[in-house]
Amino acid sequence: MDFSLNEEQLAFRDIVRRWVNAEAPKDWMRQLEADEENYPYPLWDKLKEQGFFGIGIPEEWGGLGGDVVTQMIFAREFARTAGGLLWTWGLTSFGGAKTITAVGTEEQKQRWLPAMAAGDLRVALSMTEPDGGTDVLGAMKTHAEKVDGGWNLNGAKMWTTGAKAADRLLVLARTDKNVEKKHHGLTMFFVDNKTPGITSSLLPKLGMRAMGSCSVTYDDVFVPDEDVLGEPGQAWYAMLPTLNNERIMVGAQCLGAIDGVLEDALAYAMQRKAFGKFIGQFQIIQHYIADIATWQQTTELLLYYVAQLQSEGKKCGVEANMLKMVATENAVKAADLGIQILGGMGYSAETDMQRYWRDHRILRMTPISNEMVRNTIAESLGLPRSF
Ligand SMILES: Cc1cc2nc3c(=O)[nH]c(=O)nc-3n(C[C@H](O)[C@H](O)[C@H](O)COP(=O)(O)OP(=O)(O)OC[C@H]3O[C@@H](n4cnc5c(N)ncnc54)[C@H](O)[C@@H]3O)c2cc1C
Repeated sequence: MDFSLNEEQLAFRDIVRRWVNAEAPKDWMRQLEADEENYPYPLWDKLKEQGFFGIGIPEEWGGLGGDVVTQMIFAREFARTAGGLLWTWGLTSFGGAKTITAVGTEEQKQRWLPAMAAGDLRVALSMTEPDGGTDVLGAMKTHAEKVDGGWNLNGAKMWTTGAKAADRLLVLARTDKNVEKKHHGLTMFFVDNKTPGITSSLLPKLGMRAMGSCSVTYDDVFVPDEDVLGEPGQAWYAMLPTLNNERIMVGAQCLGAIDGVLEDALAYAMQRKAFGKFIGQFQIIQHYIADIATWQQTTELLLYYVAQLQSEGKKCGVEANMLKMVATENAVKAADLGIQILGGMGYSAETDMQRYWRDHRILRMTPISNEMVRNTIAESLGLPRSF
């Protein structure tokens, strides 16, 4: 099997790599991430200036086009320095745009996708609730009732990342309580964040601090009919096709992080001295670095394999979940060893290892927890559902 990138993809990778090195260096990403109070608008503006928000959005709606492999290349290159700040781009051009492209009406696509591609419309995803994210449907209390010309939305969400900075919130709510199965009767709303009744409060957290994850309350929020995405009551089916792409995106982010860890670990090992030698001469440091390089390779192989299956339209749900698990665990292990290699400086806010660790630790929990991933893999082997 040949998973190598073609000439066009390699050229795109090189353009992104040059841009990342020049415009999004690690020192600046570290500085932006540390500022919990302020969304990284300057980074948004640079991405906008370069037109990167159009990646993956079809050309007919103002985007640059490109499939999941194109998005994967961008995510890997950008995450190498940006880590979790990748989601300045991802929440809008990946999360929001993929959903609208999949289920929006022609009118909705014309209304929102060109603005998203141009970097003029920011999106946050508001799914998880205070009572639980893994069993998101079982925990869901947010609901909306039909009123004249639209819907009346009430409820509370948790961890809506980028909520304060967003122009629109993609909100999942129950619109029918009399259903046999909990994935029935759900509706997706693309809510204007300026609508009266919405309140967002920052949740202090370990990593991706500048991304501003929030608790959000919706108190009698009016959502017009034209802002409902897909068929009312059918939201679950609208979300399913985006899940594999989401796993691929997380895999690409983690691989980018491992790239960043490896380059910093190698550079440090070749310049730091102890006992009159570069620490890179010590066998154990070499072994740590060999482990990181091996995790990079295994993550890359699985990522390219799943991306290829997905772009060929083949079934890859189990493989995408395996990728999500392997990539997130490898990224955290790599950053942890990276901290060890840098010694005290690995723990310092002046280097990036601690940021890679903090930013990627959350990905073992989200968008699906690795425990839940293991459940689905076991089930695919014929074992009974454990929950
Ligand atoms: C920084 C951050 C950013 C986030 N951004 C967003 C966002 O933008 N939008 C959004 O909607 N959500 C977001 N989330 C929410 C995230 O998706 C949830 O935290 C995640 O789904 C886990 O849900 P939970 O935290 O409620 O944990 P719980 O569901 O309470 O799980 C707790 C533990 O129990 C385990 N568990 C639960 N059920 C089972 C089972 N059946 N078998 C085995 N183990 C199980 C879990 O794996 C986990 O280890 C974010 C979260 C964080 C922390």
